[in-house]
Amino acid sequence: NTLIKLQQICKGYDLPNGTHMNVLEDIDLNIHEGEFVSILGPSGSGKSTLLRIIAGLIPPTRGKVLYNGQTIEGTNPGVGMVFQSFALFPWLTVLENVKLGLENKPWTEAEKMRKALSIIDMVGLDGFEGAYPKELSGGMKQRVGIGRALVMEPDILLMDEPFSALDVLTAENLKRDLLELWTEKKIPTKAIIMVTHSIEEAVYMSDRAIILSRDPACVTADISIRMPHW
Ligand code: ADP
Ligand code: ADP
Repeated sequence: NTLIKLQQICKGYDLPNGTHMNVLEDIDLNIHEGEFVSILGPSGSGKSTLLRIIAGLIPPTRGKVLYNGQTIEGTNPGVGMVFQSFALFPWLTVLENVKLGLENKPWTEAEKMRKALSIIDMVGLDGFEGAYPKELSGGMKQRVGIGRALVMEPDILLMDEPFSALDVLTAENLKRDLLELWTEKKIPTKAIIMVTHSIEEAVYMSDRAIILSRDPACVTADISIRMPHW
């Protein structure tokens, strides 16, 4: 079952000096239900750009993004996103940051509260509901970031180098916890796509690794690591 289908995606940027730089060229890629896919490639090869196109945060220059067989216009409603630098609101508590993801959901306040608290518990932040980001360690901040994405119950979780701002031990703990939630199907998400610089991380966590080349980026390798957990 194909969740995301990228058809001949091209993306270029107009630079301030008047030139145009092609970043992605003719990317054809299918993401299936049950897959945890890593995207690897040298710095500047367009990994973040590709993730943003899948999220519908930026439009491709050419080509189509299909989500469940439908072309998406604007933000992809099935996507939750986790950022390298957490992107939390410093003036909001853990609970408020997580609940923010639910603003546009048609659920009652009580339901939103129940879902937010259960996600906070799931990501290991039980007891920290009232804490502010500045009171949390990097690993805990990223747990909030993951909770805020998961609370929306997205079909697809997109993560842009989610562990690279964390020290090694913190990152290992968070990877292990996230992998356990995923493999034991405790999160409702149907697919995970993660941008990473680390082959080791890709092999440890994902079912499949896509490697982008530079200048301009196309898929140079598409490697199955193991059968999807689904
Ligand atoms: P990666 O995530 O693989 O490091 P990015 O997708 O961030 O690559 O960037 C790919 C290339 O596109 C880089 O050369 C970067 O400088 C350029 N780029 C990214 N975003 C923009 C933008 N908004 N405007 C102009 N150039 C950009
Ligand atoms: P990453 O850490 O994922 O490689 P970068 O640090 O390269 O990302 O880019 C951070 C942000 O700056 C992104 O939103 C990217 O689109 C934007 N960006 C990157 N390069 C450029 C550029 N040359 N001009 C404008 N924006 C850029």
